[in-house]
Amino acid sequence: MLSPVDATHVPPTVHHIPADKVCGRAKDVIRRLQKAGYEAYLVGGCVRDLLLGLVPKDFDIATSAHPEEIRRLFNSCRLIGRRFRLAHIYYGRDYLEVATFRAPHDDSDDGGKVNDVGRIINDNVYGTLEEDVWRRDFTINALFYDPISDELLDFVGGLDDLRNGKIRLLGDPEQRFREDPVRLLRAIRFAAKLGFEIEPATLACMRPMGILLEGVSSARLFDEIIKLLHSGHGWNTFQLLGEYDLLQYLLPLTYESLEDDDTGNFERMIALSLRNTDQRLAEGKSVMPGFLYAVLLWHEVSVVAEELQRKGMPELQAMTQAATDALQDQVDFTAVPRRFSNITREIWLLQSRFRYRDLRRANLLLTNPRFRAAYDFLCLRAEAGEPVKDEAEWWTAFQTATPEEREVMCKGAAVKGSLRRRKKRRKPGIVTKAAHTPAS
Ligand code: ATP
Ligand code: MG
Repeated sequence: MLSPVDATHVPPTVHHIPADKVCGRAKDVIRRLQKAGYEAYLVGGCVRDLLLGLVPKDFDIATSAHPEEIRRLFNSCRLIGRRFRLAHIYYGRDYLEVATFRAPHDDSDDGGKVNDVGRIINDNVYGTLEEDVWRRDFTINALFYDPISDELLDFVGGLDDLRNGKIRLLGDPEQRFREDPVRLLRAIRFAAKLGFEIEPATLACMRPMGILLEGVSSARLFDEIIKLLHSGHGWNTFQLLGEYDLLQYLLPLTYESLEDDDTGNFERMIALSLRNTDQRLAEGKSVMPGFLYAVLLWHEVSVVAEELQRKGMPELQAMTQAATDALQDQVDFTAVPRRFSNITREIWLLQSRFRYRDLRRANLLLTNPRFRAAYDFLCLRAEAGEPVKDEAEWWTAFQTATPEEREVMCKGAAVKGSLRRRKKRRKPGIVTKAAHTPAS
């Protein structure tokens, strides 16, 4: 590998970055920083994606200016983060991220900190461009582009790796994964997104180091899981997580369920759901983390709920209990913000209501704000091979039926649920055993 001082200045005739694809605001910020006497470049994913002819998700800027200096230059600037201080320059609700060059550091450095297993816990030691290059993760993410001079800086052979489709961690892979185990997941994410290969020295470390993910905060792992599975290459990414033995540290219940499921239905369900998510994202449609978790934890929840019912617990109570347990167990690994887990829970709890087909209840269910997600979930279960095909078909027809047709559909369907309720209502206060028996 080249030493840090061997910057390769790549001219536009070689790099071919299309100037019109560079964000105008980012260019303005860089121009202003440079005019004020600082170095400033586009860096990371945007340079990588521009070189590959992809549309960058965001345009990150790296500069020699310190956060306070950036703030003095830009009125709309806010500084964020403690572990890693950054400047955000706002344009209405949008912002550009500007990071000061970082230097490598160890325990003894001022401002930087590594814990006793070698993990970086504070990363605020500022440095030069040449130093900043080496603290980036992969060679393909360590390219710097100056949109004013149209020059690309490649200190680490990143351009070659881009051309050859290689994901190569900078420096000693073991040390770099130890410093920040999330890099394991980032390697998988870029391999899946770009269709690149992880080069052998980097790859050799990955399986044995997966256990380090146990030391990463659950909030950070939640962010990563969403980036992994909701960025357009979810199914591919999921398979790679399994292949490199990382799934068990992120989604242990999902991992165990896959081992446990002899029918193959659960894996099919995940595949169908993630492929569908990838498709939706490609079409610019929205996706729901709550739905993702509903799928990933479904096998566990349905097995536990069935077990509880076998022991005599009423259906809804069993599902509620199983849902709470599964979400609680998952939260120990990756946080699941309540606004998402509430949706997950509602999707699960609505599944049993699809069996009730009396007109009043069916119409009511249609107005439930979570009907659509729960119905999609039901269809997914059916498609994966669970014995709910009839229900899914019935509800598909019911939605587009006229009021008269709906009445006929409900007359022809089982109404056990409604009969039981009526009986119960006539004798308030008396809870019979029958009222607790799950409807079938
Ligand atoms: P994406 O297209 O998903 O945004 P990205 O490479 O831009 O990909 P970001 O998370 O936006 O990913 O990070 C921007 C850059 O910051 C990376 O390209 C990399 O240079 C650096 N970086 C991010 N996370 C790490 C990390 N954990 N360790 C080292 N460098 C990192
Ligand atoms: Mg980025």
